[in-house]
Amino acid sequence: MKLHPKISLEPVDPDHFTGEVLAGIVLEANQDEGLRVYRVTFPPGGRTAWHHHTGVQLLFVEKGRGLVQKEGEAVLEIGPGDAVHIAAGEKHWHGACQDESMSHLAVNLGGSAAWMEKVTEEEYARSPQAG
Ligand code: MN
Repeated sequence: MKLHPKISLEPVDPDHFTGEVLAGIVLEANQDEGLRVYRVTFPPGGRTAWHHHTGVQLLFVEKGRGLVQKEGEAVLEIGPGDAVHIAAGEKHWHGACQDESMSHLAVNLGGSAAWMEKVTEEEYARSPQAG
């Protein structure tokens, strides 16, 4: 057993996110297991760029209201208690709603992220809240 005390969050790489997004590694298992857990907080309107993971990613919303979209599908609204399963290789983005921040845990099972283009204002505006 190993306790990983609460960590402080730092600004993320602005090339891969829109808005003042903060993140930190909550825990990182040994490299053989490849498990990494991040806490990410998105301000209203904040979001990742489009990306995929070479391993499975699970998102667990801690607080606020957020959005997640798989390429070619509708934008889904998510809130505290919701869990999202993202299969390896699925192109997607996640972030906060337009008028509310969102914090989630991201559990990455091995692999790494492959970053793509940013989510445009037009794409983001297709979210349920924008209607
Ligand atoms: Mn992701």
